[in-house]
Amino acid sequence: MIIKKSDIEAVAVKPSQYPPDNLKEIAFAGRSNVGKSSLLNLITGRKKLAKVSGSPGKTRTINFYLINDAFRIVDLPGYGYAKVSKSISQDWGAMMEKYLQGRENLIKVIQLVDIRHQPSKQDVEMYEYLRYYGLDGIVVATKADKVSRNQIPKQIKQIRQTLGLGKEDIVIPVSALKRTGYEELLDVIEELLGE
Ligand code: GDP
Repeated sequence: MIIKKSDIEAVAVKPSQYPPDNLKEIAFAGRSNVGKSSLLNLITGRKKLAKVSGSPGKTRTINFYLINDAFRIVDLPGYGYAKVSKSISQDWGAMMEKYLQGRENLIKVIQLVDIRHQPSKQDVEMYEYLRYYGLDGIVVATKADKVSRNQIPKQIKQIRQTLGLGKEDIVIPVSALKRTGYEELLDVIEELLGE
């Protein structure tokens, strides 16, 4: 699949601000600073579609991008930024829950984890949440340029074990910096949309 067109369609903190549920949505989740904005910019071919954060944890909105006038990519707010207050993280939880639980046209949430590290407790919690809602199964391991090529399988194995992935679940190593791995991700997205 090639993304020819991408436009921000809505920025929401509550369901009344969501766009209509007429198009399939694929959302992206991950902790702050995992490289989500960089990845979204890479796959949409737009340098500034999603803002690459100098200060992580700032984005507290659900951003809906209309892709090729055919489906949406949804940028979920990052989690796990230490400096965020308790009340903000409560708001975050409520906002996420409303979207993940109630959005009928949401077909999958792609979870991002940093390839260098064992998935954090919050990564595991997020993934379990996705599993609960049947939105799990696809993980992107970001910043693949930060580990040597022969370390990649080892890191992926650790990610698989920590998140408890099954054989049919997919982990795609991607580097936004080196622009690698994203075609495979786009193929997976195309497949999801065709199902
Ligand atoms: P977000 O908070 O998840 O949206 O993460 P950003 O896209 O803002 O990236 C966080 C930081 O990681 C920035 O300094 C990026 O330049 C850096 N980064 C993102 N993707 C990559 C990557 O593929 N490789 C490397 N080496 N750095 C990356």
